Amino acid sequence: MPRIGPRRELKKALESFWSGKSDEAALLETAAALRAANWARQKSLGASIIPSNDFSLYDQVLDTSCMVGAIPPIYGWNGGAVSLSTYFAMARGSHADTQACEHGHAHSAGKGAPAQEMTKWFDTNYHYMVPEFSKGQPFALSSRKPIEEYLEAKTLGFQTRPVLVGPVTFLKLSKSRDGVDPLSLLDGLLPVYVEVLRELASNGADWVQIDEPCLVLDLDDAARAALKRAYETFARAAPQIKVMLATYFGALAENLDAALSLPVAGLHVDLARAPEQLNDVVAKAPANLVLSLGAIDGRNIWRANLPALLDRVEPAVARRGAGLVQIAPSCSLLHAPIDLDLEDELDADVKSWLAFAVQKVGELKVLAGALTSGRESVRAELAASAEAAAARASSPKVHNAAVAARIASVSPDMAQRKNPFATRAGLQRRRFNLPAFPTTTIGSFPQTAEVRKARAAYGRGTLDAAAYEKFLRAETALAVRWQEEIGLDVLVHGEFERNDMVQYFGEQLSGFAFTKHGWVQSYGSRCVRPPILFGDVSRPEQMTVEWWRYAQSLTQKPMKAMLTGPVTILNWSFVRDDQPRSESCRQIALAIRDEVADLEKAGAAMIQIDEAALREGLPLRRAEWKAYLDWAVECFRLCSSGVADRTQIHTHMCYSEFNDIIAAIGAMDADVISIETSRSKMELLDAFTTYRYPNEIGPGVYDIHSPRVPSVEEMTALLSRARERLADAQVWVNPDCGLKTRTWEDVRPALINMVAAARAQRSAAART
Ligand code: GLN
Ligand code: ZN
Repeated sequence: MPRIGPRRELKKALESFWSGKSDEAALLETAAALRAANWARQKSLGASIIPSNDFSLYDQVLDTSCMVGAIPPIYGWNGGAVSLSTYFAMARGSHADTQACEHGHAHSAGKGAPAQEMTKWFDTNYHYMVPEFSKGQPFALSSRKPIEEYLEAKTLGFQTRPVLVGPVTFLKLSKSRDGVDPLSLLDGLLPVYVEVLRELASNGADWVQIDEPCLVLDLDDAARAALKRAYETFARAAPQIKVMLATYFGALAENLDAALSLPVAGLHVDLARAPEQLNDVVAKAPANLVLSLGAIDGRNIWRANLPALLDRVEPAVARRGAGLVQIAPSCSLLHAPIDLDLEDELDADVKSWLAFAVQKVGELKVLAGALTSGRESVRAELAASAEAAAARASSPKVHNAAVAARIASVSPDMAQRKNPFATRAGLQRRRFNLPAFPTTTIGSFPQTAEVRKARAAYGRGTLDAAAYEKFLRAETALAVRWQEEIGLDVLVHGEFERNDMVQYFGEQLSGFAFTKHGWVQSYGSRCVRPPILFGDVSRPEQMTVEWWRYAQSLTQKPMKAMLTGPVTILNWSFVRDDQPRSESCRQIALAIRDEVADLEKAGAAMIQIDEAALREGLPLRRAEWKAYLDWAVECFRLCSSGVADRTQIHTHMCYSEFNDIIAAIGAMDADVISIETSRSKMELLDAFTTYRYPNEIGPGVYDIHSPRVPSVEEMTALLSRARERLADAQVWVNPDCGLKTRTWEDVRPALINMVAAARAQRSAAART
């Protein structure tokens, strides 16, 4: 179950504790109350198997590092039980000056031990703390959390099935400090797991769930052998406890035989992501293996069509016997919002098509009822489910004939600029007459407390629309004037009117809905409320043109218009399950294309379309990358190619792991791209030794994730490195991401230095 609490109680308790407003006892009390409420709620909803140790104060992978005592020396831990302060030092750094950018990367920004690295949990938007090992890494049971939480539930009267991150997945997701192969540490790790399993068993646990989602990835023989060794060890050393081996986020595919050969009592499979694997799994499973069928989608917000699901599941149950089948969500419900009942402002039709975590547990109960006592026993519930599915399938709120016609009329030339980059670049150069190494920023300027306060007041209704607009215009004007003053070449309006780069557009497009309480944990105390894409997307009105027009009216310099791209809007939303993602993306692309056309008509000569999340959408399996990149790139081109050659298209991406997708990025054919490189000291540019990036590019010269002000010299040095790999005419000068999380005090000197660094480079280039 989601751990944050229906009203984000955990977030509030954590942040109050971190800021010193409340003590450890208060935090632990809130945490215990949330666990107790979750157990009680699942029981009252009719769940027959209730998990424990699904709770975490920060992250379940970090919990596992603590359980096995894998605490890097930098945190000064001397053995014994891991304290809360060590735990949070690993999570956030030992000084609370660690900054996290909006995509969840932790960036250490000061003295003290930095936080552990954070990265995305498979293809979800949940981020885990990356375990870190070195040669000869010792392991010892150092946190008894799984046992304590099992006993806590037991005391409250709940027999639970504790959940552990499996040893092989844990090692596969880790990194080494000194080149040690994490899998080689398995034999040292297993005894700690065995100790936990034995203790759970001796305290009364009959089952444990061990998660090995690595089984849906491309595995090599070494990983498959590690799985075998781990589960044979458990079967031999802790035979008292039955293991439900859980896989999720995809198909077992070529790992199916390996999974089925493990000596475990049960296997959980994801039938939401990979419904096609059901028959194979049922056919091949050993006779006494309990199958847990992940039938209800744990990753999305749609209500299931229960009769249709039963049509698929009933034959499997008949074949194996009800005693050998469990019905479950496809994966942890951590990835779903908590309770739909809290949404009192959602459109009633849309609401009737949705199910959040609580509702999904209710659906499981109905499925189980039908499977054990026949469909008749839950006739009303099944009828309601089928009716909602039918209503959604035929609703005019979902299906818009005009959008369908538009999609049908898309032709290949629409995703193609009129002329190749070389021709466009010449026209653009003459039009803009920019100096060498032109300077610009990524879009947003600081979202100060006043900006956020004004937006909140406007939202509450205590600030009227006219006053809010006046405030935003004043902020924009200040930002524009300041950019002119310090001599930036290409300006931005600052994005003060935007709450979030996806929400801002979702709220103006049809086909999107927004929740009030639909929070999902992104990392630690940070939660996001993804938009819900429920219907065909269209753009009723212009979205950004007026703001751009106003900003451009304040200056003679080029004002970049600023949009979020279709792939990013898609990847940061809950999306439709009744059509391929590519189809939804194409619809968004057409809406953005219209905005691009209107901006151009209004006079915008440079239009930036951010694709911050393009890389995040990569499928887990390599074999599926190409198909994804093909449609993602095509959607970007579709939204950006309707303009004249002299209009300059920019894009921005905030990550540096480009090397494996660099050709796809090139194929997007943006005239200018800005990317993150400053932290890796331009290492990313190594990609350009084998692949010659064809268009113009601004490799970020300063790390906006840190409040530290970079000097002219260090940015000059980074630019010199960039010039070793790129032609001078290709290089732009910019920070590595938007500035909205920074203060003006950080931003002012940093950008002044950046402009100076660009000028220094101009003189240097003129001399050679
Ligand atoms: N234009 C956006 C900004 O500057 C881009 C943010 C991002 O890439 N995450 O805020
Ligand atoms: Zn960025």
